[in-house]
Amino acid sequence: MKAPGLNIKELAQQVAERLEELALVSDEPGWLVRTFLSPASARANALVGGWMREAGLTVREDDFGNLTGTRQGPPGARKLVIGSHLDTVVDAGKFDGPAGVLLGIAAAAACPDLPFTLEVVGFSDEEGVRFQSTYLGSRAYVGKISPEELALRDAAGISVGELTAARRAAGFPEAGADLENLMGYLEIHIEQGPVLEEAGLALGVVPGIAGQTRILAGFTGQAGHAGTTPMPLRRDALAAAARLVLEAESQAQLHPPLLATVGKMEVLPGAGNVIPGQVVFTLDVRSPDNTAREAALEHLEQFGAAEAAARRLAWHWQVKQSNPAVPCDAGLSARLTEAVAAGQPVVPRIFSGAGHDAAVLAGVGPAAMLFVRCRAGLSHHPDEYASPEDLAAALEAVVRFVLSLAASPYV
Ligand SMILES: [Zn+2]
Repeated sequence: MKAPGLNIKELAQQVAERLEELALVSDEPGWLVRTFLSPASARANALVGGWMREAGLTVREDDFGNLTGTRQGPPGARKLVIGSHLDTVVDAGKFDGPAGVLLGIAAAAACPDLPFTLEVVGFSDEEGVRFQSTYLGSRAYVGKISPEELALRDAAGISVGELTAARRAAGFPEAGADLENLMGYLEIHIEQGPVLEEAGLALGVVPGIAGQTRILAGFTGQAGHAGTTPMPLRRDALAAAARLVLEAESQAQLHPPLLATVGKMEVLPGAGNVIPGQVVFTLDVRSPDNTAREAALEHLEQFGAAEAAARRLAWHWQVKQSNPAVPCDAGLSARLTEAVAAGQPVVPRIFSGAGHDAAVLAGVGPAAMLFVRCRAGLSHHPDEYASPEDLAAALEAVVRFVLSLAASPYV
């Protein structure tokens, strides 16, 4: 089918309406959750794939559930990829991920004649809810999935390798894009923070993505009777964990823009009249500066060890995931900044504290990221919202960016 011939404002309105429709595609009733290779993800791919076809794109879904819509350029043409993810967190908003994919499709519809190949991608696993991993979709797309990732198992005991093998047996092609002639990757994403709203601006350009390390840590002491064990004889795991939480907070306060969060903690045996014998908790540390992040982690690991020694506890520290900071491509970001500057007086540079598929794509070619203002900076929440006007501003900038690459390709 031909591109519908809508103008930018109409296309952006269509994106807003499609985001509402896509948000109804959920694995659970009453809220939005769409995880890697789930039934809802298959339905979302069918819906979005239809919109890709409407925009004149050739649709492919691979064994990892990545959905691509491609408009092939002339033989030997270079390739521009516009993408984001279609999976969500639990009780998600409607915009985190899908907004970027649908704006990419709208940009493809708005630019029907390009001298290069345009590929719009909906990656299948950015949030990592099902396998506690991230970027499975984009890592498969760039051909970097490791044996460790294939061995990951979900709550039901099914591995990534088993799932994707079954999909190949069912006829889905193997993931892996042709990136030999990649000119660049653009990701459009809601900001997920309050900077643009504070500045009163619709758009910002992302100079890089903060590095992040996720730790699973814990103290093991001795559970005991809360009424009969004198304080000096206790081996209280929670008291040590509480000190570690506050130390993480003070490290972050001392070294901005470092961020440190303990978001989950399990206390065992978990009774009001029992001394906590074991505590397991997560620690999430992020910074655009790799040295600062590593220094904070080293400090906190030693702090925990010292606390454990003083309280006669065992100290556990396991790095579950570590991704270095990733700079976006300066030249491609400059082209994007020019495109944004045509529509607003200043273009803020905002480092992304959240991970994005752009971090993976930056490993194989030039990557740039556009942030769109979201209400109250709210994300990973059902009230997440970006206005149709801001979606239109984003689409206008992206179309300008794409046309500038058509006029003079990025090297
Ligand atoms: Zn996202």
